Amino acid sequence: MGRPEAWRRLGGTVKRDLGRPPARASWTAPRAPSVERLTPPPTIPPVTDLAVPPRFLEDVYQAASECNKCSLCQAVCPTYVTNPVEWETARGRVSLIRDAIEGRIELRDIADGPLSTCLTCDNCVAACAPRVPTSLIVSRARMELHEQEGHPWGQSFAFRSILPRPGALRFLHGLSRAAQVTGLHALARFTGLSRWLGTGGALMEHVGPLPRQTAYRRARDLPAVTAPVRGRVGFLVCCYQNLAVPQATEATMRVLLANGYEVIVPQLACSGLPAKSLGDREAMTDMAAANVDVLRDVDVDMLVGDVASCTSHYRQYDTILAGDAQHAADGARIARRTLLATELLADAGQRAELGPLRWRVAIDEPCSLPIDGPARSAARRLLEAVPRLTLVPLEEAAMCCGGPGMYFHEQPERSEAILQRKFEHVVASGAAVLVTENVSCLLQLRNGAARYAPGVRVMHVFEVLNESLQTAQRRAAIIPE
Ligand code: SF4
Ligand code: SF4
Repeated sequence: MGRPEAWRRLGGTVKRDLGRPPARASWTAPRAPSVERLTPPPTIPPVTDLAVPPRFLEDVYQAASECNKCSLCQAVCPTYVTNPVEWETARGRVSLIRDAIEGRIELRDIADGPLSTCLTCDNCVAACAPRVPTSLIVSRARMELHEQEGHPWGQSFAFRSILPRPGALRFLHGLSRAAQVTGLHALARFTGLSRWLGTGGALMEHVGPLPRQTAYRRARDLPAVTAPVRGRVGFLVCCYQNLAVPQATEATMRVLLANGYEVIVPQLACSGLPAKSLGDREAMTDMAAANVDVLRDVDVDMLVGDVASCTSHYRQYDTILAGDAQHAADGARIARRTLLATELLADAGQRAELGPLRWRVAIDEPCSLPIDGPARSAARRLLEAVPRLTLVPLEEAAMCCGGPGMYFHEQPERSEAILQRKFEHVVASGAAVLVTENVSCLLQLRNGAARYAPGVRVMHVFEVLNESLQTAQRRAAIIPE
């Protein structure tokens, strides 16, 4: 079935008034795009129950065939709830991919829409009895499509020449800082030039002014570990958070040190997660192999990260590198020894004294946390220990905020509709602080707060814990025992 035919029978229109975003005091967040254009139109062709030999994607074909069409995934899918048409559900996407595998349509026919709008957030899996791994199936379909058609050159260049090179990332940071200091950044925003710079300009708008020092630089000025030492951890610095929100990484390291964990900071490249999200398997594998070469000889008890998506990606190095004889064993060892810093500390228990914070806090759960694992409750368990802090419930806390990767740029209207819905719940919760543990979520929620809830502060969970530690230290200095 050709593309026009395949897309004609479904559709739906979302026309929501997003309102005028309020201005932000310090820097103005990027303007909210209109959601008027949210209406691509695909259709689900009839699916036969007859399995045929798969043309490709043999590894996920069986999983894609296990969908029983129950539709329980509809209500929890962020794209469906903001644009209620069948192809926006896991059921619709998986069905279309299966049709492509079996030869009734081509992957190209569903590239713009079912494949491109999925957030790969896996929120649908939580509602799915057979646990159909939709994000894995969509990611593999994107990879297959790119293998059939090749990669956009800009993306390919970034994945091969910038993200794997810490030096190139440092150079970019210096360049961006120079643009800020000289006023070029502000000029580009004022004149609209940043909009003409494509992905780079969109990223510049989304991230806002970069802090002066990266997380790697800040790691040089940390205090000594508090005795007695409980363990030695290797810190998996996320390259994105290193540049955009380094204060969060610094806070995590400070809290770990105060709780008796010696912190070693190996110089890493990008984990490879962006390449996975955009379907570049070769770049993803190369970045994983480069990091394994660095981490192989790092002498630590465990590896920890404070960015949920990036850390989860390191935990998949066993499967990512399974076909690479040179790196497979070390990749599997790294996957086994990696965990999220919140999980480590919540399980081991906090030892450092915490001071009171009279804050009303809501927790937004990054979708990259394992659906029903203990990591889901780790941030809550840590924050419950902060004196005077009130945790308030947040409706749809596990639903994606619309911010993963470059989704805010690739799907601006949809991302904005999802973000607006998120902030309707944040405002209703009465929270003054919104906490998460993922760099994409931090940036997306920060922009959302600027537009829809200017009084709400968005923080990483370890920034809150560090603030509490410092409160305790200040009180101890004023009132010695
Ligand atoms: S992965 Fe997320 S966006 Fe994609 S179908 Fe599932 S719930 Fe929807
Ligand atoms: S919940 Fe799972 S089985 Fe049910 S329709 Fe959605 S993907 Fe298929």
